[in-house]
Amino acid sequence: MKLLDVQNLRTTFHIEAGQVQAVRGISFHVNKGESIGIVGESGSGKSVSMLSLLKLLPSNAKLEADSVLFDGIELVKTDQKAMRKMLGNDIGMIFQDPMTSLNPLFTIGEQIMEPLRIHQKLSKEEARKKAIEILRTVEIPSPESRLKQYPHEFSGGMRQRVMIAIALSCSPKLLIADEPTTALDVTIQAQILDLMRDLRNKMDVSIVMITHDLGVIANMCNRIVVMYGGTIVEQGTTREIFYEPKHPYTWGLLRSIPQFSEGEKKKLISIPGSPPDLLRPPQGCAFTARCPHAMKICEKLPPQQISLSDTHQAACWLMHPKAAPHAKEVIS
Ligand code: SF4
Repeated sequence: MKLLDVQNLRTTFHIEAGQVQAVRGISFHVNKGESIGIVGESGSGKSVSMLSLLKLLPSNAKLEADSVLFDGIELVKTDQKAMRKMLGNDIGMIFQDPMTSLNPLFTIGEQIMEPLRIHQKLSKEEARKKAIEILRTVEIPSPESRLKQYPHEFSGGMRQRVMIAIALSCSPKLLIADEPTTALDVTIQAQILDLMRDLRNKMDVSIVMITHDLGVIANMCNRIVVMYGGTIVEQGTTREIFYEPKHPYTWGLLRSIPQFSEGEKKKLISIPGSPPDLLRPPQGCAFTARCPHAMKICEKLPPQQISLSDTHQAACWLMHPKAAPHAKEVIS
């Protein structure tokens, strides 16, 4: 059952030089209780698309969509006031750098208790008890005394656990995590991902994980959405994306994940070139300039999404039924 259903979302930023088409008509959904990963390079539109549907963009941004349904509520028509109520209550967010998201002037306890008092109208004592309980859930030792400490007294990993605690404090239905482990070292990264996986199972919360690193979400997400140049180029189950990828950009992302097989040294291959300028987006496929398989049609016309299974779609001319035989060999 769908918790979030986004249809044809477009986001444009109006700047002096013109209009930056940051998100160019994306459609995806998140089922109840599942985790999806949105993956792509910087500037692919992954974070902007989530901030757009939560209406957290600056005033020069324009959001358009055919529909954004969250738990049966149409968010396109929801005003800022109702949206603010929903944020923190029904939808929790975790950002990349907990040090800049936490207020250094307030104790951890005050920052966890604030949403509980505002959204759930709990008394001070009730909010304190709930804050202790949630700190215990995110595996912070001695929560009673930690509650009185300030953010600088916590390590990077512990601060991210506090951010998760704040995001989960009001038992949201959806948790959006924007590069939650990028600022952490590898071992702490693994602990935070384990914790999020456990919490998803225990608390029955759906998770959208935004990342530039496919490797991070391999063991965490049920489905993966691959974004490039403000569009979705491929989406499918984690198995489909890792074992049957069909889009050349997804192939590039997979080749850039470190592999550690015994006795074997595999070279990491980066994707040459840089993402398109979305002030003047390409007429055809956004990946043309960097794609080793680009054909003449790729420059002229954007490829449409082609369904490969009930769960797997990709947008690439190589998969078109009329593509030349050599194209079929490339994708097989
Ligand atoms: Fe490459 Fe063309 Fe496919 Fe785009 S549509 S990914 S340029 S082959």
